[in-house]
Amino acid sequence: MVHSANLGFPCIGFHRELKKGLEQYWAAEISEQELLQTARTIRIKNWQLQYDLGIEILPSNDFSLYDHMLDTITMLGAIPNRYRPISREFSTDVYFAMARGAQKANIPAMEMTKWFNTNYHHIVPEIEPHTSFSFTDPKILNEFREASTAGFQTRPVLIGPLTLLLLSKSITPGFSPLQKLNELIPVYQILFRELFALGADWVQVDEPILVKDLPQSAKKAFRIAYQQFAEVAHRPQLLLTSYFDGLGENSDLAFSLPVEGIHLDMVAGKDQWNLLNRKTVKRKTLSLGVIDGHNVWRTDLERILLNLQSKTALLENEIQLAPSCSLMHVPLDVNVEEHIEPSIKSWLAFAMQKLEEISALTSAINHEKRTDLFQQNYAALENRRLFLSKHRSDIPKDPMDQVKAGRQSPYAVRKAKQHARFHLPLFPTTTIGSFPQTGQIRLMRSRYGKGDLAQEDYENFLRQQIQDGIQWQEQIGLDVLVHGEFERNDMVQYFAEQLKGFVFTEHGWVQSFGSRYVRPPILFGDVERPQPMTVRWSSYAQSLTEKPVKGMLTGPVTILQWSFIRDDQPHSLTCFQVADAINEEVRDLEHAGIGIIQIDEPALREGLPLKKKDWQTYLTWAIQAFQRTCKGIADETQIHTHMCYSEFNEIISSIAQLDADVISIEAARSSMELLKAFSDYRYPNEIGPGIYDIHSPRIPSVEELTALLEKAIRVIAPEQIWVNPDCGLKTRNWEEVRPALQNMVAAAQNMRQKFIDKRE
Ligand code: GLN
Ligand code: ZN
Repeated sequence: MVHSANLGFPCIGFHRELKKGLEQYWAAEISEQELLQTARTIRIKNWQLQYDLGIEILPSNDFSLYDHMLDTITMLGAIPNRYRPISREFSTDVYFAMARGAQKANIPAMEMTKWFNTNYHHIVPEIEPHTSFSFTDPKILNEFREASTAGFQTRPVLIGPLTLLLLSKSITPGFSPLQKLNELIPVYQILFRELFALGADWVQVDEPILVKDLPQSAKKAFRIAYQQFAEVAHRPQLLLTSYFDGLGENSDLAFSLPVEGIHLDMVAGKDQWNLLNRKTVKRKTLSLGVIDGHNVWRTDLERILLNLQSKTALLENEIQLAPSCSLMHVPLDVNVEEHIEPSIKSWLAFAMQKLEEISALTSAINHEKRTDLFQQNYAALENRRLFLSKHRSDIPKDPMDQVKAGRQSPYAVRKAKQHARFHLPLFPTTTIGSFPQTGQIRLMRSRYGKGDLAQEDYENFLRQQIQDGIQWQEQIGLDVLVHGEFERNDMVQYFAEQLKGFVFTEHGWVQSFGSRYVRPPILFGDVERPQPMTVRWSSYAQSLTEKPVKGMLTGPVTILQWSFIRDDQPHSLTCFQVADAINEEVRDLEHAGIGIIQIDEPALREGLPLKKKDWQTYLTWAIQAFQRTCKGIADETQIHTHMCYSEFNEIISSIAQLDADVISIEAARSSMELLKAFSDYRYPNEIGPGIYDIHSPRIPSVEELTALLEKAIRVIAPEQIWVNPDCGLKTRNWEEVRPALQNMVAAAQNMRQKFIDKRE
């Protein structure tokens, strides 16, 4: 017998009830009771639905008002001291203050960061030597009880102690959160006891950190923690849950731990199918994540069935079939989509469809009878294969294919030609691309989208915005101008909508963080660029001024990273197709007289694989993709790139290989510390370390900005330095942006003056 299971279900609700409820609660339009009632209704509905779809093992505590990591922190009582003034006891207000900051009390929020290789962001626990743990928020018990009362036996989910501690941060020098393990273990033990007392027979302990490279200290900590968990006399059985990749070198560790079950991601960690023949696997319940929880394609059920049936483990172990990871990373239901072309729609499976697949596989094994879904999936996949075989473009099949990509001459040659062309001063000033997306711009875009505003009127409006923007930039004395990206809804969607090979959902919301959801484009086929995408806006802006206006494009790696992409060919090939489309745009911009072009790759670093051993392969093709975007352009054309993060130490040589003439990076918050990576490496090209932190509403003073530039010239030659903000300005308002950029220009002038004085 095998059993069908789920690891986690989207929380948003079929009509985005949770998102709406949260926003109303924060705006004080509904009471806490009303919000919690909305949440309860969604949970009960989700359990019923999963049950109706044939899932036997249902998760509980997979629901979160904001974030699972935050839930775990409050469950364990690891609430940073700065939130104490909000209320003596733990409360919903404290919870949201941790998530979003308390404006009135002026207490900042906790930091957020990406959850492994997903586009979901979790709250980063703050663990210091003085942090104390106690079982504080009983949410996990309440939700288990709530399900029981509604008639559902569930398997509670929680984040395990090692994943929690290894993803925590501390500001205490010489201290590592892992040192707190011994104080944390007893709280988990209490929790297990209490869950058992309520009738929980299993608990899903999420330890995705197991798929990353672990230092010896972490492996040892795993053994200590799980040994002590095993010793709890009355506790549920533990399902150690890994996902997002295979266990790799940690599989011996994982299988040696005294837990009753292990979940494996059989999609991202394909090599783990081999584990199923091994003896070590014996005597554990195996939860096999055979359905892709991190992408949107229908599954080849027949193939999985064959794979499963050939494995000895299937005969000797208790088996559960599950999605590879929580389904929170995919949209809810593909059936509600009305505008996706029917054959493409038939290739897709969202959370509900994935559960149907699990249930079909389970009953095929248990009853040796295939449901209709087998036939439906087979037909859909055949249709997809046929389509893809017909539409292959002439992209080289070998990802390492050496097309002469990149620039014609080495940087030194280009540099001289570009200086002769642009005559930019020392410390040239520029911005990253977008200007504030005001309420008016959003309103006009939405009216245009709904058909309430004629295209001509909308475009005239955009032209006016560009004109005002250019005029203002000239006035304050910026050197390289931008058009402002007023026409763009999003830096990926804007391009995806104009490329062939993408489809879009109407309701395919996926959580990014808290109440923020995105609808990632779906890249289903070969990518082509039927016509120029940005040329007319850039040309229009350039026609208004003598100063250079930067063309603004999103790079191929970022487009891939923020979309659902095809799983039938290596990512590198898909990336090269996107790169070639962007290259056509670069050439058209160049042809239209745009001399400076920025290709943003903010997601390059987050695309790094979870295991270090896979980094080089990724970086090799990511660099090649970037170089392909610059193929065949003149030495005089200046290519910029932008990355909004600051840790370059480990990838600096790859960044150098991109060979962008200018790179702008985040630096203000770390006060230029990160420039060290560039100076140690003797980075040859030009760099714009962001000196204006756009993530904060604060307006930096001229002195402060000058001081940052002073710091920068201590590590980087003045001839290499550009002056710019950290990132695009779309989330700020003009009242902040105007004075901040004026101060920035003044700081650059201070620096120039200083060098002229010196020379004289
Ligand atoms: N050019 C983009 C902008 O200014 C870059 C955004 C980003 O780096 N995320 O908005
Ligand atoms: Zn950025």
